[in-house]
Amino acid sequence: MQNKQNTKLPWNDYSSYIKRIFGIRVQKISIDAGFTCPNRDGKISRGACFYCTNESFSPFYCTPKLSVTEQLQKGIEFFSKKYKTQKYLAYFQSYTNTYGKVEDLKKLYLEALAVEGVIGLVIATRPDCIDEEIMKMLKEISKDKYLSIEYGAESTKNETLNFINRGHSWEQTIKAVELANNFQINCGLHFIIGLPGEDKTDFLNHAKKISKLNIQTLKIHQMQVLKKTKLADVYKESPELFYNLNLENYLDLMVEFLGYLNPNVVVERFTSESPKEMIIYPNWKGKKNFEISHMLEKKMKERKITQGMFFEANSI
Ligand code: SF4
Repeated sequence: MQNKQNTKLPWNDYSSYIKRIFGIRVQKISIDAGFTCPNRDGKISRGACFYCTNESFSPFYCTPKLSVTEQLQKGIEFFSKKYKTQKYLAYFQSYTNTYGKVEDLKKLYLEALAVEGVIGLVIATRPDCIDEEIMKMLKEISKDKYLSIEYGAESTKNETLNFINRGHSWEQTIKAVELANNFQINCGLHFIIGLPGEDKTDFLNHAKKISKLNIQTLKIHQMQVLKKTKLADVYKESPELFYNLNLENYLDLMVEFLGYLNPNVVVERFTSESPKEMIIYPNWKGKKNFEISHMLEKKMKERKITQGMFFEANSI
């Protein structure tokens, strides 16, 4: 599962990866299948991760009030207006999408795969909510379809994971990646850059540690302190715990981060855009993801840095 680097961008980008695999345009459609999460329902805690919010920023069709089929059909109807011939990946995104009985999970995933135009599944989950039984079922139902499992890792530092009440360790993430590798299932990680108590050394160590794993994709985004979260209380009481995440600093960090990142890892995104009225910190004045992506490209080209150019020197 080697991913050849795109020559135009200084990083190994997701849309080129998708085109290499499918040869056509493919759009992800988010689904909220009504799952909850063990870090909310009491199995691990009722406190949730410090940055987690109950507010939903999902597209209009992504709601558990609709069936999986209805959500996909509405999503496809919406996206197909612009690109008639594209295909779709059903993206089980909200909460913990492997948190259920294996036979119930199977039904939901099969329902998604049966929708016309859907050519695969992307399943977001926690690294402590996956096991051999689920992997076996996933392998069996995906056969000739695309399948990727995305783990919310968030940090490689257990001290940070404990502080933000994540409820799992970095070692559990490593094990979950190895499990996906054993089943030859595509695997992605999600990371937050700027969690309280972490500094530049930690952020670059994340890149180095991620680079040692056999993953296909990586999603990174800046930490956002959102209203009505525990992180908002921490920020109010101890702002000194937070790295200065102004946009220039973040871009500088990303340039180096990508320099240390294994060039085979496909980077799906660098930033996240929550509604402006929800954000307490950092304030990037509504800059869009694509604008930030252009700024990053410019910075990397000016500095002649490409993804993975420091990877050989990886010493951690
Ligand atoms: S695991 Fe996800 S859904 Fe559960 S509390 Fe943490 S961020 Fe929220």
